Amino acid sequence: MTRGMGDSDTIYALSTAPGRAGIAVVRVSGPATRQVLVALAGREPAPRQATLARFRDHDGETIDRGLLLYFPAPASVTGEDVAEFHVHGSRAVIAGLFEALSRQGLRIAEPGEFTRRAFLNEKLDLAAAEGLADLVAAETKAQRRQALRQLEGALGRLTEAWRGRLLDTQARLEAAIDFPDEDLPAGLWEGAREMARALAHDIAAHLADGRRGERLRDGVAVAILGPPNAGKSSLMNALAQRDVAITSAVAGTTRDVIEVALDLDGYPVQLWDTAGLRAGADLVEEEGVRRARARAQSADVKLVLYDATRAGEVEGLRELLDENAILIANKSDLLLPQAKAPQGLALSVRTGAGMERLLDRLGAAVADRFAGTAAPLVTRLRHRRALEECRAALGRFAEAALPELAAEDLRAAALALGRITGRTGVEDMLDRLFAEFCIGK
Ligand code: GDP
Repeated sequence: MTRGMGDSDTIYALSTAPGRAGIAVVRVSGPATRQVLVALAGREPAPRQATLARFRDHDGETIDRGLLLYFPAPASVTGEDVAEFHVHGSRAVIAGLFEALSRQGLRIAEPGEFTRRAFLNEKLDLAAAEGLADLVAAETKAQRRQALRQLEGALGRLTEAWRGRLLDTQARLEAAIDFPDEDLPAGLWEGAREMARALAHDIAAHLADGRRGERLRDGVAVAILGPPNAGKSSLMNALAQRDVAITSAVAGTTRDVIEVALDLDGYPVQLWDTAGLRAGADLVEEEGVRRARARAQSADVKLVLYDATRAGEVEGLRELLDENAILIANKSDLLLPQAKAPQGLALSVRTGAGMERLLDRLGAAVADRFAGTAAPLVTRLRHRRALEECRAALGRFAEAALPELAAEDLRAAALALGRITGRTGVEDMLDRLFAEFCIGK
């Protein structure tokens, strides 16, 4: 079934990045696609085959020669007739092609409009569309993997499976309410509650994933903490200057915390430097310092740095040293050869000694946050909210005293789940109801 395809105009857009390039791809989608192909290329090419063609404007002048691809509906990315023009990536060629397309009555697509049409034609669900957006934005290997998995429908399939269980539960409940005198299996109401409890449990288990999916999207937060002069800024620079590691320059410099995005063994990391944190100034600044420190302490991994020649500093750092912390004795180059080994990981940012070990430890700590990522993950707050809402509704259902009062909770649970994939409705629930109990007679 096609939903909401009232807007049947034909759209076009440059699908490759703007600017000079070897090749540019201009995509067309909509019912006028065939007519456009005939007008510009002189014919309708064979479907799904690359065809070399000459593209002409309304005066018959050649705009460019290039490859043409034609995907007739519904076997196309949007579900509509789609064409791709692969032309030379110059401004003049693209401008000429755009003008020719406009003259055919086409309009430039809105951002995301191809994907929106694909969604409306049920080529992909909402979670997959989000995966597509994440894939386009992916900066590291792990982000790419997660986005691809979501684009391929992993989260959608999982929520659909849950929704299937919910519909079964609903079917039992409806039967218990509407047809008490029929010849139905006993214990329907209790059975429905049991199913709801089991589903709520599975969803809760999935939600207790340490927010790995969201972390993978946004990056693991790694904070550098420690007393003034321990070498925090130096370490930050050393980490950020490993060219291979940097994915973007300083992301944002607030007054208190500097952030750099790193790619650590394929995992995205947000590195926070708290070097600007100095106690003592005026009250307003102190409040800023307090907040920044609180934020830094909430980081996923903490690199707690002290000056190895000031072993006494470790005492003041105790409160920071939880299971997410890595204690680092910096400036180990200043230690005398006969001095006893400092507490924590010995490092010299100046000479680079200990740096590889630190990176190994950090890499392991970060990878640890993503361990067991085989299951499809909750990648967005939107999914998490929907799942929490679903679980809460199931919980209310399981506690309800009477089936009549509980139906609404199940409906709320189904609606919340359906929001993840963008599918809501009760038609399929009714199908199951009648298929399972043969009540229609
Ligand atoms: P922060 O206040 O913790 O950010 O410390 P800085 O990074 O500004 O470093 C304080 C001072 O220690 C600077 O003069 C650095 O050059 C120096 N420093 C940092 N790391 C080392 C190191 O490994 N060995 C030595 N000898 N000096 C270092």
